[in-house]
Amino acid sequence: MKKSIFLFLTGVLLIMCLSGCGKTKYNLLYDGYGFESKKTKYTAGETVTVYYDLIATDTDYSFFLDCDDVSLKQDYDNSHGYIFTFTMPDHDVTIGVKSRNSMEYDPGAMSGYGNEPESTDDGTDAPAGEGMWVCPECGYNANTGGFCSNCGRKKDA
Ligand SMILES: [Zn+2]
Repeated sequence: MKKSIFLFLTGVLLIMCLSGCGKTKYNLLYDGYGFESKKTKYTAGETVTVYYDLIATDTDYSFFLDCDDVSLKQDYDNSHGYIFTFTMPDHDVTIGVKSRNSMEYDPGAMSGYGNEPESTDDGTDAPAGEGMWVCPECGYNANTGGFCSNCGRKKDA
């Protein structure tokens, strides 16, 4: 009885070694939620397909791999969501996602909108009203007579 268990375990180890040690497999890791792939380990050169269907409205997604030597092909399918394919390199690869709510306040896109400098209208530099003249001396802009009502300067001819 003991012997058969030993043989069984040896057989399991052999099978594991044959299937696992023959070709080195590398891990497909996820940085973020929502990724799905048929396998978590791939041999180098194998085509890896990853699905991502955790898609919310009004959200911008950017996907990335943690390495520069692999080119990520991005596709979109209505039934699967995002589909990524790449060739497994000879090292572990992490695929990640950065999501951003596109409805959120974006200081970059919104700059200059809604926060225009408040008009500092204190009488100077503002255009004169109809029939009024701006005093070149003091800047008073509501003069109607022949002399500046602020500083008394004579109106230019
Ligand atoms: Zn004046």
